[in-house]
Amino acid sequence: MMPELPEVETIKRELEKAVLGKKIIDVIINNPRVIREPNRDVFVKEIKNSVIKNILRKGKLLILELSSGKSLAVHLKMTGQLVYPGDASQSRVSFKLSDGKLLDFNDRRLFGELRLVDDWKELKFIQGLGPEPFDIESDKFKVMLAGKKTKVKPLLMDQAFLSGIGNLYAAEALFRSRISPARPANDLTDKEKELLFKEIKDTLKEAIQHKGSSIDQYVQLSGTAGDYVKYHKVYGREGKPCLVCKTIVKRTSLGGRGTYFCPHCQK
Ligand SMILES: [Zn+2]
Repeated sequence: MMPELPEVETIKRELEKAVLGKKIIDVIINNPRVIREPNRDVFVKEIKNSVIKNILRKGKLLILELSSGKSLAVHLKMTGQLVYPGDASQSRVSFKLSDGKLLDFNDRRLFGELRLVDDWKELKFIQGLGPEPFDIESDKFKVMLAGKKTKVKPLLMDQAFLSGIGNLYAAEALFRSRISPARPANDLTDKEKELLFKEIKDTLKEAIQHKGSSIDQYVQLSGTAGDYVKYHKVYGREGKPCLVCKTIVKRTSLGGRGTYFCPHCQK
């Protein structure tokens, strides 16, 4: 499972408490593959001695704005982790900070991305992002769904349509809205659209409160697991009774992704 909005937001908030205002005094590279731009020598040279001035999250992307004017964009992808204080024992790249501690970027499968750029707004990733659920109103969400024949779950996961939601929170929000993941988006009634929008925001908020869901590799900045898995209503609950109606929760494949739902509650 790729970290989604609640997991990345958790790390962002923890980074603000832990590393904001600190200077990066050195960069330790154990595997340069995660550095996507520029090349490793320039990457190190241009990060060294800059202060972390601001920390942002855009969709699933973290951005550290530096005093040099450059920004370090971090995409965790499937198995990326940021850990502080780290020890560089498993890290691909570690940042040595002015407090003497390390900020580790771990990434077992090496899909993660570090980019040092002049202007993060010009990143291709950023330009392809749709709005975040917390940045729009219900009416706008309804307009966005109108005319979309795509099945609703893959549509919610499409970052160009709406940013921050992936497989896990799409499944949870649809269950809470009692909407089948396979319904065409433009088939939803206005009432269903309003309910879905509310449940998306409530699910994300609750997951942030519980510091995200640790399914595979995701951990909080401290290295400890997020707590939200025990509150999942359908995700990962295949074969178990629905918490509402006791029907067995099913898992199918939709848009190439494992999809959990209750065939009785969700229509
Ligand atoms: Zn049910």
